[in-house]
Amino acid sequence: MGKYDHRTITRDGQLLLQKMANDQVETVWERLADQTPQCGYCEMGLSCRVCAMGPCRIDPFGEGPQKGVCGADADIIVARNLGRMIAAGAAAHSDHGRDLVEVLADVAVDNAPGYAIRDQKKLLRVAREYGVETEGRNALAIAGDLAAAMQDEFGTRKGYLTMAGRAPAKRQELWKRIGIAPRGIDRETSEMMHRTHMGVDNGWQSLMLHGLRNALSDGWGGSMIATEVSDILFGTPQPNSNQVNVGVLKEDQVNIIVHGHNPVVSEMIMRACESQEMLTLAAEKGAAGINLAGLCCTGNELLMRHGIPVAGNHLMTELVVGTGAVEMMIVDYQCIMPSLGALAPCYHTKMISTSDKARFPGMEHHEFHPDNAARLALDLVRKAIENFSQRGETYIPVTPTPSVGGFSVEAIIAALGGTPKPLIDAIAAGKIRGAVGVVGCNNPKIKHDYGHVTLTKRLIEQDYLVVDTGCAAVANAKAGFKVAEAAAYAGPGLREVCQTLGIPPVLHMGSCVDNVRILVLAAALADALQVDISDLPLAGAAPEWYSEKAVSIGAYFVASGVFTVLGPMPPITGSMNVVNLLTSGLSDVVGATFAVEPDPEKAALLIQRHVEGKRKALGLPYRQV
Ligand code: SF4
Ligand code: SF4
Repeated sequence: MGKYDHRTITRDGQLLLQKMANDQVETVWERLADQTPQCGYCEMGLSCRVCAMGPCRIDPFGEGPQKGVCGADADIIVARNLGRMIAAGAAAHSDHGRDLVEVLADVAVDNAPGYAIRDQKKLLRVAREYGVETEGRNALAIAGDLAAAMQDEFGTRKGYLTMAGRAPAKRQELWKRIGIAPRGIDRETSEMMHRTHMGVDNGWQSLMLHGLRNALSDGWGGSMIATEVSDILFGTPQPNSNQVNVGVLKEDQVNIIVHGHNPVVSEMIMRACESQEMLTLAAEKGAAGINLAGLCCTGNELLMRHGIPVAGNHLMTELVVGTGAVEMMIVDYQCIMPSLGALAPCYHTKMISTSDKARFPGMEHHEFHPDNAARLALDLVRKAIENFSQRGETYIPVTPTPSVGGFSVEAIIAALGGTPKPLIDAIAAGKIRGAVGVVGCNNPKIKHDYGHVTLTKRLIEQDYLVVDTGCAAVANAKAGFKVAEAAAYAGPGLREVCQTLGIPPVLHMGSCVDNVRILVLAAALADALQVDISDLPLAGAAPEWYSEKAVSIGAYFVASGVFTVLGPMPPITGSMNVVNLLTSGLSDVVGATFAVEPDPEKAALLIQRHVEGKRKALGLPYRQV
């Protein structure tokens, strides 16, 4: 057993942790150790700093205070805290979506050189969905009207969000009946902040119900807009071959890493890397080429659409710099550790921040806007090339793992022959027991990638088709689950389906905002069977989640009818009322619940039990688990 095997299951991670220890450079794991033990009140959700009469804490043992200064009890404080986590996650995804809509609006008026409409078919389809006239009009005029219609949805109340209309009719009726159908995108987040102000909503149940509505405004609103507009601007993903892990860095080339979430920046950097001017400059500086690789979800965006390699997921972001082989890391926003700026000079890497809303200590700030992006991308790539000569010793300890990505809903339906029927038939026959979305982050409290990979392995062995996104998708790609040959890991039924269709047993569906692709696929299956999503043999899991965005994703999965298992416990154990509502009471409200199970072996059993129960209710052959 190696010294760092308890931190990560990945070989590149273990070797780079040793390297960084030798270099005396700290990482997220050392900082977690410095913070341990963490505050028990906060872990249970029992601390409140909403107002200046506080901060307040509730004593979980019942001996100390049971009410904050204002009189709020444990239920109110826990529900308010969780509500604010959902609001922050929904805001992050939806603001990302807004940025894409702004680029679409700029493209429409020719104010975004280098950006274009790359999927006209999707533009027309989505425009019609929004009631935009398409007949006899040019693409730019349609794009301008679509952008305006989407912008309206962020703030203006006109009934309910357009794309919530993609949910099965029964689900939409349920949302309206219980008062959680999402209205404006920003409205739901703003209302959550209002409700959780001192002296507003002090019903833990009503706070949690609004939490579901807030999350739905993300899943069927902000995130769905982000995904659809990204497809319109950059192309809808199609299956492609790519490579993953730190081995994608190249000793003899200029290595540029893009990290963050928004393809508005990374797409332009990719085009600059491909330009003849930059390739010539790189050759002049003695490099064999320019190698662009991604981290986290902006990496997933490029991988999905262009097969650009991904160097790692969330917990690899510091370690990648430790290779000494990265000339430049260009970040946009979300999941970018502020430690990176201080770490980079140890290894010659130039760190660049690009968003007007995301600054980092120790990074050079070069702000991207639609009108300057093409030029700025060239400037940055030039700087990276010039930095090649500053490179010292490098350490790229592994070779890359091959992978296949690019499974948008459109690509999956095409692989199935143009209709979801073959998938439904395989599920009905029991060859595929059900489908599970394995999604979300890394968290240093869980051994890196162990949760994702163990859960996924157990599921495919038992004939469960896995679709994944975000850092989970990178973990599973590194584990080798995303090539056609990985069908060998699957149970006999899933293996047969994969071999017939030539697909891997684990389908990469994209970045964090692309979790909405899973919702759309689930809705298509439900519609084909004329049932609700909650009737289907489906489940979701976030075995290593850490971010507020993941809380919002989990909440919109559950509110959409998908049973969802979390690895790390959210900060709710201070209120058994909230715990019971989320883990059982919601079943009567939205037909799905959360479960929390940090052990992925046990999580796999929970999921199988749930899915087999759904099969039984549908009258399909089922197994006792
Ligand atoms: S809102 Fe109430 S519980 Fe929270 S800090 Fe203020 S007084 Fe304390
Ligand atoms: S999956 Fe989580 S850690 Fe990874 S990029 Fe998305 S939000 Fe960040």
